[in-house]
Amino acid sequence: MPIFEYECRKCGNLFEELVMSSSQEVTCPSCGSADIDKLISAIAKKCRGCSSSGGASCGPT
Ligand SMILES: [Zn+2]
Repeated sequence: MPIFEYECRKCGNLFEELVMSSSQEVTCPSCGSADIDKLISAIAKKCRGCSSSGGASCGPT
């Protein structure tokens, strides 16, 4: 699942959001602001393309 971590620039709230498409608009659940930063979290280190192949092959290819 493509879950990304965000930090709100307005109120500093940290939150995670399930993003289904790159065009999806993400807003802060605390203040509703769309002025947010996407963070590189530990989640991003996981293989993103193996969800349908059992997760056995997470090589750099
Ligand atoms: Zn906020």
